[in-house]
Amino acid sequence: AGQQLTLKRYPVTNNNLQAWDAADHHLLKVVNEAHLNTQHCLLINDSFGALACGLNATRVLAHTDSKVAQLGCQKNIALNGIDTSITWIHLQQEWPKDIDLVLMKLPRNLNQLDSQLIKLSQTLTKGTRILIAGKAKNINRNIVERCAKHIGQATPSLAWKNTRVIDCIFDGKVRPTTPLRSWPIPEYNLNIDNLPNVFAGNSLDIGARLMLQHIPNNISGDIVDLGCGNGVLGLRAAQLNSKAQIHFVDESKAAVDSAFRNWQNNFSGQDNRASFHWNDCLSGLTQLGAELVLCNPPFHQGDALTDHIAWQMLNDAKRVLKPGGILLLVGNRHLGYHIKMQRVFGEVSTIASDPKFVILQSKK
Ligand code: SAM
Repeated sequence: AGQQLTLKRYPVTNNNLQAWDAADHHLLKVVNEAHLNTQHCLLINDSFGALACGLNATRVLAHTDSKVAQLGCQKNIALNGIDTSITWIHLQQEWPKDIDLVLMKLPRNLNQLDSQLIKLSQTLTKGTRILIAGKAKNINRNIVERCAKHIGQATPSLAWKNTRVIDCIFDGKVRPTTPLRSWPIPEYNLNIDNLPNVFAGNSLDIGARLMLQHIPNNISGDIVDLGCGNGVLGLRAAQLNSKAQIHFVDESKAAVDSAFRNWQNNFSGQDNRASFHWNDCLSGLTQLGAELVLCNPPFHQGDALTDHIAWQMLNDAKRVLKPGGILLLVGNRHLGYHIKMQRVFGEVSTIASDPKFVILQSKK
């Protein structure tokens, strides 16, 4: 209450995007005004630590799918000299049973919302309060009904600064985990499982489909699938390059877990050929000397349309490539990746294109 915080996005960029929003503020206001006990509080989807910093509790549990959000939270805790110890938990593990308050930011992806609420139903004790904050325009009847379906009672607040908080009370009923979405790619003899919140929810992405036709063969060193999602590009690269080591990298935990599952399902017994990294681009992966980086870059961070991740991916790709190594990128034509690749690598060529997408290549 009344405390001043300095919050930065992660990574720090000069695009003037804020590291917190009015929904964070709204949640903290409810907690303060109702004097809620935050001793055994779980934070879900805190983007850059606004909630963790604002609570200023001695310890919190936190869950996020995003490595970038986790790193941002840790940086902002340190930046503000806050003495909170955070225990991070993820969906694929069992959660502690002593949680008595959940503060949650509404995620963009509804499958992710469902899976997080279902996980809560498998964890919490009856009567536990869950406060879910988001932009008022996103908290529609469908969202409130989803909360009620998975949790029990769900009551949206009045709007405050164009945000609402849905006040939920858990009814004690355990909900079953939603089955995975799976689909085959018959032409490449691959089967793909997608955990909730992983890019390309129901079928192969059309950009990825074009890219699959142009992945090189005869590579025996390191191949990186940067922003791997379900890992489809790296899986195809593994088929074409049986001597190569494939490194799957994504900032989404669900994506890395999906890629891992898909590796096991499609390349069973070949675990020594693949590694999996829940990581912000290629930061810290200094041991790589790649011959090929495959990339289908994202163009938003949460709700924000931004190209800083693409810049970071290109610069990181160049750093980990060996001299003569290749970056192969698929992107929407209108996003102008060739200009960025020209800037970073000093050269770029077009390998293929269709009316919507283009495959570009740069050599280090
Ligand atoms: N390669 C997959 C495909 O072609 O279907 C997924 C491509 S999707 C357009 C972009 C991926 O980049 C997403 O899975 C997203 O989670 C990931 N991503 C976004 N920001 C990232 C970052 N900072 N570091 C690593 N991966 C990131």
